[in-house]
Amino acid sequence: MDEDVEKLKQRLPLLDYLRQQHWTARPAGHGSEFVGLCPLHPETRPSFYVNASKNLFYCHGCGQGGDLFRFVQLSRYLSFHQSLTYLQEQSAPPADPAAVLEQAATFYQQQLDRYPEALHYLKHRGLHDPASIKELRIGYAPGASLRRHLTAQGHSFHLLRRLGLLNPQDCDAFYRRVVFPCCQAGRIVNLYGRSIDAACAHRFLPGSKGGLYAWEQVRQYPEVILVEGLFDYAVLWQAGFRHLTCSLGTSLNASQFRQLCDRRRSVYLTFDVDANGSGQQASERLAHRLQAHGIATRRVLLPKGHDPNSFFVEGGDARQFQSLLEAAQP
Ligand SMILES: [Zn+2]
Repeated sequence: MDEDVEKLKQRLPLLDYLRQQHWTARPAGHGSEFVGLCPLHPETRPSFYVNASKNLFYCHGCGQGGDLFRFVQLSRYLSFHQSLTYLQEQSAPPADPAAVLEQAATFYQQQLDRYPEALHYLKHRGLHDPASIKELRIGYAPGASLRRHLTAQGHSFHLLRRLGLLNPQDCDAFYRRVVFPCCQAGRIVNLYGRSIDAACAHRFLPGSKGGLYAWEQVRQYPEVILVEGLFDYAVLWQAGFRHLTCSLGTSLNASQFRQLCDRRRSVYLTFDVDANGSGQQASERLAHRLQAHGIATRRVLLPKGHDPNSFFVEGGDARQFQSLLEAAQP
């Protein structure tokens, strides 16, 4: 704690902090002393002195004095501990969100092999090939560990909350979740967390999911397979399919739609064949919209009740899926 305090006072000198708070001052005598109106009590003649080389203040009017921490405690009515948190947030360098998400994804990736329940879950979802798991950078969020890792790298609670990595109680937002990073133009823009406990819904971090998953790798293909979920994507990737992308849900957002239409191509639609028909309806609507933009579509007819993930989980293989692609209806 003492070390944090000293480092912070060096990183954010008292005079800089006061100037950020719009304190105006003139040099007092020689050297590093400045004087101005006291921010801590009402006055008309300046009696608030700051010694920049000692990094201390003293007011001859109200008699208060001390360092940056003392000033923050007095001016913002905070405890010492609260003022430390406040100043850490004030002094944190402006962080690049993609770089923080990159650190989080790497951390989650490193956890995967340490938690048998995570590997067990992946196996249960049809993912068993370590090379594919590594290529897709799949990780595991055990919970209660990311916060310590990222704050030790100097990231503020404020930033981690803003990115959604911490919840409003400052705990890890992802707990017992398999994590997929979503990239755009080579940078991570979001993380998808799939709970390994059936009770919790899957979720993304707040903010944009970006465009189509891994689009840069597939945009040059004249034929593209479009799947709905990341586990559909992962099992097809594992089976060797590469002309593959994912809409991260049944409805495409505007930027995903534009991506699919950015050149003439054929799109294989593989949305769920679910009992209530909503997957087929979504698929039909999308097919019509794409056709109106000059994109050829083909609907892949999976066995009833299946999505690509369950098709592979229940013993389907690459050759059988290839036959379904070849039989796909325009
Ligand atoms: Zn004063």
